[in-house]
Amino acid sequence: MRFTLWDDFLALVFPVTCNLCNRSLFAFESELCRTCEASLPVTLFHQSPLENELTQKLMGLTDIRMALAYLRFSKRGKSQKLLHQLKYRNRPMLGVKLGRMYGELLVQQGLEKEWDLIIPVPLHRSKERRRGYNQSRCFADGLGESLGIRVVNGLERTVNTATQTRKNRLQRWENVSEVFHIVDEVSLVGKRILLVDDVMTTGATLAACANVLHTARPSYVDLAVIAAGR
Ligand SMILES: [Zn+2]
Repeated sequence: MRFTLWDDFLALVFPVTCNLCNRSLFAFESELCRTCEASLPVTLFHQSPLENELTQKLMGLTDIRMALAYLRFSKRGKSQKLLHQLKYRNRPMLGVKLGRMYGELLVQQGLEKEWDLIIPVPLHRSKERRRGYNQSRCFADGLGESLGIRVVNGLERTVNTATQTRKNRLQRWENVSEVFHIVDEVSLVGKRILLVDDVMTTGATLAACANVLHTARPSYVDLAVIAAGR
């Protein structure tokens, strides 16, 4: 409480604004104003997590049980703006906030007992150093908080130089020339894993990660992303 005046002063000089509409936020709001929060393009995938267009898309690419996306991705839409803020505008707490909100929705749906571990899709180490954070880890942290599930950096991403020159257009788009390895000393055998990323387009990156995780013989791998498009 002692810092209230100082906080008010800071808020006047450096107003904290909504990531979508830029309006100054009230003290009870964080990252998004209440109006924008209520108008997010939330999907209904959590109502049919085992069978939806995301699980359909991944069929044949990897063995996935549930696939979830918080928001519907649309070019120039709200989800794209949020992802841009999160990735390029140094807003790691926005990722945590979106994870918390989605986690609450999944709890309402009774899904919090489905997983033992949350594993974020990693960035290449040099990229994470440049950005200062991994946006998928931020989302994972928020989800973990709401769901009461541990988040583990179980994968690492390195550049596979052998395949660099043989990339096709799709692979370049998804960066699958980069390869994933299991790094964590935590055993994944028999674990129920929720793999988390920021966005799903073709699903190639997520499928690559899930396939690597499957080599560690988990019970199953599910996925959740902030936004997915058609
Ligand atoms: Zn707003």
